[in-house]
Amino acid sequence: MDTLEALRAMLGPSHVLTDADAQPFVVDWRERYRGQALAVVRPADVGQVSEVVRFCADHGIPLIPQGGNTGLCGGATPDDSGAAVILSLQRLNRIRGIDTDNDTMEVEAGCILQSVQQAAREAGRLFPLSLAAEGSCTIGGNLATNAGGTQVLRYGNMRELALGLEVVTAQGDVWHGLRGLRKDNTGYDLRDLFIGSEGTLGVITAATLKLFPLPVARCTALLALESIEAAIQMLGRARAGLGASLTGFELMAGDCLRDVVRCFPQQRFPFEGPSAQLPWFTLLELSDSESEAHARERFEVVVGEAIEAGCVQDAVIAESVAQSHALWHLRESIPLAEKEIGKSIKHDVSIPVSRMAEFVESTNAALQAAFPGIRHVIFGHLGDGNLHYNVARGADWAEGQLLALQDNVYTLVHDRVHAVGGSISAEHGVGQLKRDALPRYKDPVEMALMHKIKSVLDPQGIMNPGKVLQ
Ligand SMILES: Cc1cc2nc3c(=O)[nH]c(=O)nc-3n(C[C@H](O)[C@H](O)[C@H](O)COP(=O)(O)OP(=O)(O)OC[C@H]3O[C@@H](n4cnc5c(N)ncnc54)[C@H](O)[C@@H]3O)c2cc1C
Repeated sequence: MDTLEALRAMLGPSHVLTDADAQPFVVDWRERYRGQALAVVRPADVGQVSEVVRFCADHGIPLIPQGGNTGLCGGATPDDSGAAVILSLQRLNRIRGIDTDNDTMEVEAGCILQSVQQAAREAGRLFPLSLAAEGSCTIGGNLATNAGGTQVLRYGNMRELALGLEVVTAQGDVWHGLRGLRKDNTGYDLRDLFIGSEGTLGVITAATLKLFPLPVARCTALLALESIEAAIQMLGRARAGLGASLTGFELMAGDCLRDVVRCFPQQRFPFEGPSAQLPWFTLLELSDSESEAHARERFEVVVGEAIEAGCVQDAVIAESVAQSHALWHLRESIPLAEKEIGKSIKHDVSIPVSRMAEFVESTNAALQAAFPGIRHVIFGHLGDGNLHYNVARGADWAEGQLLALQDNVYTLVHDRVHAVGGSISAEHGVGQLKRDALPRYKDPVEMALMHKIKSVLDPQGIMNPGKVLQ
């Protein structure tokens, strides 16, 4: 029996996609990577995942786990050999249970993040991971990339939100690690090893996630500022004044927001006159356990003091839930506007907050000196020290002109990130995009240990080859 016939016998013919049906799975969200696959398989449960992996291990067939295919580093895209099988987890989409006393929920890897948030809300709890792709990314992808998003400041990233995992190993065995324990010191932490491993060590099939009390009210404020230094000062003020109620603190260059309203005219920029032209904006979110009025009052005090001190030039504090959503929508539309405008070179980096202003200023200057006219598209999760420091083509450049500079731009930016003690991947992962850059910046002993771990857990090298490690 040939490979496709065997897979069809295992999963049913309608769950083995080839040719045109496989095309949406072989290209990434940004359309920067396109590969070919022998087939896309869609198992229904952990048993079928195990069968597929065991079969592929027996026959030396490379496997690419894929969730919502929203990753930004080409991690879920096969190479162009056509030898790999894409293992789509989308049919593993059951919420297996919610334990409100233990504040945990058990979900399958293919659950869409938004549906997990919704299920938690219906049980009177909060699952706090939140990011612009939440309508299509999956919990498995979130875990495999250790996703971050807009609430990390208060709740942590995916690694901090998962208590247990169920994983199919590269040999097809099932590791039943779905523990809902906050304390468990029984040896090496395999959970933390699989989280962030981008499908290169095994397939995550389910997870036990942490839940939190649902805030009674949320309020959002958009502040206009003159500099990144002022934004950092504001972060300190907000932390001191709002404590754990501060659940989001985003930084956006004014140009990014002006691009959003230009690309999507139905959205409104809530500032006019000189404030609308300022170079930097921050979006703050406050989660309150009393009421909307209370949330607003607390914001008014902190923001009022910052305006008086000259730290903030202008501010809009949302007066309704709808206005809060509209302000978030502006922020979340930045990557969409960026995509609309054309291809860009993305850097998802983390920098110590204390060195953020120095990094942006010196890197902007170095890029302009090397590539005059290049555009900076800078936004990110300032509260976590995470910037999306992207660059786009200059006004009169052809698209190809920017992409031709890609390698030089990456090296220039990443060298500066490294020089200020930062990381070249904050939350998007490595995938194929940053794989070759990794050894330049990571400690050689750390790289050697990573290679050893990979060779022990996946000795045949069938799990997502060519991603993360060379
Ligand atoms: C508009 C937009 C905004 C975004 N904003 C953010 C943000 O704020 N923060 C952030 O962290 N990310 C962000 N992302 C990136 C992306 O959404 C996340 O990385 C997301 O977690 C990927 O989930 P996915 O299901 O789409 O994974 P995929 O893209 O399908 O896969 C991503 C990686 O995980 C592996 N993988 C997927 N599922 C499994 C599994 N079950 N087991 C093992 N490996 C698996 C794949 O092999 C691949 O290496 C954004 C993306 C877009 C398009």
